[in-house]
Amino acid sequence: MIAYRKKSALLFVVALAAVVTAAGGVRATEQSRSLTTDVELLKVKIAQATRMLAREGIIASSGHVSARIPGTDRVVIGPADVTRDILTGADIVTVDLNSRKISGKRREPLETEIHTGIYRARRDVMAVVHSHAVHSVVFSVTKKPILPISVHGAIFADGVPTFEHVGHVNTRDLGDGLARALGLHRAVLVKMHGAAIVGASIEEAFVAALQLEENAEKQLWAAATGTVEPMTAEEAARSVRQSFQPSSIQKRWQYYQDLERVATPPR
Ligand SMILES: [Zn+2]
Repeated sequence: MIAYRKKSALLFVVALAAVVTAAGGVRATEQSRSLTTDVELLKVKIAQATRMLAREGIIASSGHVSARIPGTDRVVIGPADVTRDILTGADIVTVDLNSRKISGKRREPLETEIHTGIYRARRDVMAVVHSHAVHSVVFSVTKKPILPISVHGAIFADGVPTFEHVGHVNTRDLGDGLARALGLHRAVLVKMHGAAIVGASIEEAFVAALQLEENAEKQLWAAATGTVEPMTAEEAARSVRQSFQPSSIQKRWQYYQDLERVATPPR
């Protein structure tokens, strides 16, 4: 009887251990599944942001959007070799902070260092847009500063520096140099080439990229019309508080998503 009880107790312990292990296994699987789901969601958003920026002329045949995978030294980024307007989540590649490809069926961009250089230097940055927009890049040629002259442009009131290198940003030294030029700013111009805009999320970097270009265009029109008088520091702070809230960012993201949806014929 005692032997039977001991055997039963042993069986119970073994069964309990199996349940605990199974539960732990389920938890581990759920965690890895949710991490995978999060990464897949990031890829879909990168593709979406890229298509929407292409539609607005901020990104053309080149230019890319990336995001840091939270809690890792991995970055998901739009590829070199797919037309931006038709990019999907399946095209997005994963690289490490040394710009080496980890996974993905497409080629990583030639200028991955624009992104990884910034991620190495700025832990607060979770997303980067590399744009080739017309109006903002003009300011890297004339050396006239981009000024806060619109409510949406107020997020650039602390200035937009220029990285004084003409050509591709395709080496680690150039990536580090670009990150140094960016400093703690929200955007940096790349001389006669484009810009890099950063954010705490894909949505934030996307909206900031639009707002940099909109402000630059309005400033050019203002300069063509008369004297440019930027807003004061107080006006800029108020504008940022009022127009760069998470809800304002989400509203603009939703607007461009809806534009894309109504423009895409049903299949
Ligand atoms: Zn470029």
